[in-house]
Amino acid sequence: MVKSMQVYEGKAKKVIPLDDGKVIMEFKDDATAFDGKKKAQFKGKGWLNAQISAVLFKVLEEKCVKTHFIGVAGDNRLIVERLKMYPLEVVVRNVVAGSLKKRLPIEEGRELPEPIVELYYKDDSLGDPMINHHHAKVLGISEGEIKEMERIALKVNEILKEYFAERGIILVDFKLEFGKNERGEIILGDEISPDTCRFWDAKTKKSLDKDVFRFDKGDLINAYEELYHRLTGEA
Ligand code: 5GP
Repeated sequence: MVKSMQVYEGKAKKVIPLDDGKVIMEFKDDATAFDGKKKAQFKGKGWLNAQISAVLFKVLEEKCVKTHFIGVAGDNRLIVERLKMYPLEVVVRNVVAGSLKKRLPIEEGRELPEPIVELYYKDDSLGDPMINHHHAKVLGISEGEIKEMERIALKVNEILKEYFAERGIILVDFKLEFGKNERGEIILGDEISPDTCRFWDAKTKKSLDKDVFRFDKGDLINAYEELYHRLTGEA
């Protein structure tokens, strides 16, 4: 099953389809956590997430990962290829943190012997439940499609883990979303930003991501700006 993409306003982004097969993704300053129970606005967050996503999509494209990214279209906007999105979140983990602590008897911060890939069904009313290949098949997503998404997710992990390590940052975990383009190819979509990844400073283990907001660990904009600075060298 592949969902048709419509004009819509999500929690952190607006998606505006154009009539030439492209889409504008507008990043908002809104932040939500815990199924929307915690909400706030941070001036500049939309800009930072758009720019950070653009940097990371370019890094992946250079290493031959196909993404929907076409270009930056203004301060907090990206222009991307239109995809029919799968209702899935593909999570990759390198280090124990977040919801993995509830699944494995291993303390936070322990490096995993190999990356773990998890699938979640994207449905707020069900609380985005974790699913496996069998559940996905019932939803109309084939074993082959899942394998391809997992393969790309692990390749993204290899590339970004090294890219962040070179900048003194541990890529703890992250969430990807995929869609199909008009040619039937499975393409990496959505965003890759501190809203959708966990980044820890390698020395201090300080969070440079949305956990700052989730768990009141300090100033979110300072953390996102620090990450942007480490990636681009720009203030
Ligand atoms: P966890 O399952 O530990 O809560 O999340 C694992 C990783 O995926 C984290 O980097 C988290 O930011 C990301 N992630 C998982 N689900 C969502 C989601 O619904 N929205 C966003 N923005 N990120 C998610």
